[in-house]
Amino acid sequence: MSDRESASAPTLVSLWTGVRKRLEAAGVDTPVLDARLLLEAGAGVARLDIVTDPRRPATLEQIDAVDALAARRAAREPLAYILGRKAFWKLEFKVSPATLIPRPETELLVELALELLEPARNARVLDLGVGAGAILLSVLSERPLARGVGVDKSAAALEVARANAAALNLSERAEFRFGDWAEGIDARFDLVLSNPPYVSEPEMAVLGPELLREPRLALDGGADGLDAYRAIFRAIPRLLAAGGSFAVEVGRGQAGDVVRLAEAVGLAPAPPRPDLAGIPRVVFGRAHT
Ligand code: GLN
Repeated sequence: MSDRESASAPTLVSLWTGVRKRLEAAGVDTPVLDARLLLEAGAGVARLDIVTDPRRPATLEQIDAVDALAARRAAREPLAYILGRKAFWKLEFKVSPATLIPRPETELLVELALELLEPARNARVLDLGVGAGAILLSVLSERPLARGVGVDKSAAALEVARANAAALNLSERAEFRFGDWAEGIDARFDLVLSNPPYVSEPEMAVLGPELLREPRLALDGGADGLDAYRAIFRAIPRLLAAGGSFAVEVGRGQAGDVVRLAEAVGLAPAPPRPDLAGIPRVVFGRAHT
């Protein structure tokens, strides 16, 4: 290789910079981080390689592979779908375009669930609209005696959830069922959880490019965003065991309405719990007994 060639041959760091600029130009909001993760995935290198050996020349295969991933991200495909995985709670979950990508604010729902579930009990947990399984499986991972059922009306999402349960060694305690909310479920549970679709019709009309790639089924909450809560709260009283609890994630500005839906079916919601941004994010409480 001549000096001229080696001076211009892409290195890991120059590849990273190139991808970063491309993502910036495409309007991606975290271009530095995304570029690094795409470089790691495409070139098959670890963060440490980039830091300790930044001038390592990239091979043609690496350049092509990184380029292909960068093109997808520049077309605003969500990073988690490109990588096929998303970190949530203390775990990593497989995700696909059939599942919503777990959000950091949803970890608050897991926290609440753990507050509501005494560690020493053989609790039964139900997750309505389980998606990739992030909520239910995170809770089960923290409560070794608990068992759970996850319901979804997407068969493709249930496949992802089952794969996640297997990867986390939780298959024996997690059962996944196809269904429309709680239809056909006659068991009772100590805790009912849900992060249902809650995006309202006006918000659905202006979804950003990444959100448009996520399943509409997991986002669309009907005209006012509250359709799923109506269905869920109609069912919750018959799903709760004596002394059982419920906790649901809500969208910005929905907590008051969801508290009223809970009260209307005889539940006793606590003051909604705010997320780190101060937005009331989880409506929860116990059944009257
Ligand atoms: N958190 C998603 C958003 O950012 C909505 C998820 C849901 O509808 N449950 O809009």
